[in-house]
Amino acid sequence: MMTEPTPVPGDVLSALRRHQRVLIAAHAHPDADAMGSCLAMAWALRSTGVDALVFNEDGLPDFLNFLTLPGPVLTDPDSLPCDPDLVVCLDCGDRARLGENLQPLLDRVPTVNIDHHLANPLFGTEANWVDTTMSSTGEMVSLIARALRAPLHGALAEALYVAVSSDTGNFSYGNTTAGALRLAADMVEEGLNIARLREALENNWSESRLRLWGLVMQQARILEDGRLAAALITRETMQACGAGREDTEGIVEQLRKLAGVRVALVLREEEKNGQVQTRASLRSSGSDNVRDVAAQFGGGGHRNAAGATLPLDAEKALTVMQPYIRFVWNRVR
Ligand code: 5GP
Ligand code: MN
Repeated sequence: MMTEPTPVPGDVLSALRRHQRVLIAAHAHPDADAMGSCLAMAWALRSTGVDALVFNEDGLPDFLNFLTLPGPVLTDPDSLPCDPDLVVCLDCGDRARLGENLQPLLDRVPTVNIDHHLANPLFGTEANWVDTTMSSTGEMVSLIARALRAPLHGALAEALYVAVSSDTGNFSYGNTTAGALRLAADMVEEGLNIARLREALENNWSESRLRLWGLVMQQARILEDGRLAAALITRETMQACGAGREDTEGIVEQLRKLAGVRVALVLREEEKNGQVQTRASLRSSGSDNVRDVAAQFGGGGHRNAAGATLPLDAEKALTVMQPYIRFVWNRVR
């Protein structure tokens, strides 16, 4: 039986229809779902005559620079081309994820919060649409675009495809909904060239990235009787390979491929205000819940994909996380 698409909540649509200068923002260090959703939302709002701006503290990530943009991705909230009357927050499990620079604007301008993460605290002041059954924020934006009668082709469709295909692991993870597959089918029917997008998204590695992956795989630690695969990426390793933060994207999914692994963990050191801190990325499968592990350290995400930042070096971060990771398979269900 074909199910009806989820309706977009009325207060979300009316907020979008009532405002004229909308700033669209997602979490800092945007992934493809965060940035693709923002671009698609901007294209959809523009088609209805709204002045839509895209903001991200870290700008457009290099790996998405092949996309056609609805305008520049703004990085400074103090020099926007106009004063927004609404902020649409996309793919942010909590308000802090939007980055420090945007917080003053969020204090004074009404916000709509659209997201698919677990335990989103509904921080939107004008409307909230949080649906954890959605594959991606991109899928939610596609429903908004349809409701606004924006045609799902061209640059809008490309941004949506990038968002949805990335969060679903090319339409193969457990979060892949029938709605996501139908959306892709509809867009292909409208002329979307998915082979071109795949080429742009995947066949773009730098030598630094290749070397980094080689080194990290060599040094990966197989712990907990093979149930935990962990990679510690120090600042020295990053420097030795000439690699940047984006070059580590995807390593954690690679570690999860090892047979017997229940939790894959990447711990990447970085420096903030002269102090070392570690970004943790966790992945699992099925009912194994890594969001609960991330939440212990102030992070969050989804059951099978979560992250957090710890004010420790990578070795210490592993030591403090390991006992919580054991709960993933020792939990009484
Ligand atoms: P990744 O490991 O790719 O950085 O993140 C995996 C998932 O966890 C993503 O859905 C991401 O939004 C979420 N996530 C990562 N880090 C954090 C964090 O510090 N706080 C929250 N609330 N979610 C996070
Ligand atoms: Mn997402």
